[in-house]
Amino acid sequence: MTGRVVVVKLGSSSVTSPSGAPNRAVIGSICEQLAGLRSAGHRAVLVSSGAIAAGWAALGDGRPPPADPALLQAVSAVGQPTVVGAWLEALAGVGLTGGQVLLAPLDFVHRRQYLHARQTLQHLLELGVVPVVNENDAVADEEIRFGDNDRLAALVAHLVGASMLVLLTDTPGLLTADPREVAHASLIEEVVEIDQQLERRAGGPGSPLGSGGMASKLAAAKIATWSGIETVIADAARPGVLASALAGAPGVGTVFRARPRAVPARKLWIAFALSSAGTVVVDDGARQALLGGGRSLLPAGVVAVSGSFEPDDAVEVRDQAGQLVAKGLVRCPSARAGEWVGRRTEELPADLAHEVVHRDDMVVLGD
Ligand code: GLU
Repeated sequence: MTGRVVVVKLGSSSVTSPSGAPNRAVIGSICEQLAGLRSAGHRAVLVSSGAIAAGWAALGDGRPPPADPALLQAVSAVGQPTVVGAWLEALAGVGLTGGQVLLAPLDFVHRRQYLHARQTLQHLLELGVVPVVNENDAVADEEIRFGDNDRLAALVAHLVGASMLVLLTDTPGLLTADPREVAHASLIEEVVEIDQQLERRAGGPGSPLGSGGMASKLAAAKIATWSGIETVIADAARPGVLASALAGAPGVGTVFRARPRAVPARKLWIAFALSSAGTVVVDDGARQALLGGGRSLLPAGVVAVSGSFEPDDAVEVRDQAGQLVAKGLVRCPSARAGEWVGRRTEELPADLAHEVVHRDDMVVLGD
């Protein structure tokens, strides 16, 4: 089948109503739109939140949700079948078959697991099934959970080779200011490059039961656009939102243009899937050299090392003002990197590799 593969993500505030029950009107409308996309030859993967919200609706007796993340993980086990059930029923109502896929961050970290997940999703798409994906909240390692589904959706979009990621939410897109604070906030229709100014503007987290908010949507858009995938943030309640997003209709939401040169899968994995075990702070000369591209990080440019890491762990490389410059896999343990801070190559033992981070294992993220 020709056509495009689209990943459509809905957050808790769209999938569930304020009571926490599945919002059947939104779910039904999205499924009708998916049937329309299917008739036009496109295929879709759904990424749906709402497990915790629906679970707490069933268990909470109207009380505010608990703050304990481990308890919320357990609550998700009650809500996940309710949410996925609502999707499967609505998909069946428009003649489509859905299938549940639960993924955890480690599925993206371990390459064999990553390839398995990819194979399953590809088979489901070939079988004409609409995969309904969520984070495996009940068992995901609390320390390294995605928490929000925005980044998960972006990594899934990369995994299935999607050409578009649509992040549906309860606002028209990315706004010039927080609409809860500024009444005249207006829609940003197009973003060519996600820079630090935009990231600062996106502000904090969203609703109490959804963990997303605009900051995590921007982080997701960054992963996707770096993977060469166009991303749209739009209002889940907008009629025909999916067809409009695919058609590039003006004003559909905020459209993030894909970067022309997609970052290879391994570097995306280093940049966005691995959590950092430490930070290496560099001086201005090293910062310039890294931003210029194609250079390894040597001890001479390092001014400080924090965290405890072993070779092949991921670290963040920051400048002295604390700005993120790059992320990479280290070649030496933190103790040695700390000992070698500021030393020139001729002062280092000849029998050991000198790079702190080799250029092949580094992704430049600063601007
Ligand atoms: N996986 C979580 C859930 O399904 C996501 C919560 C969210 O950020 O919306 O409840």
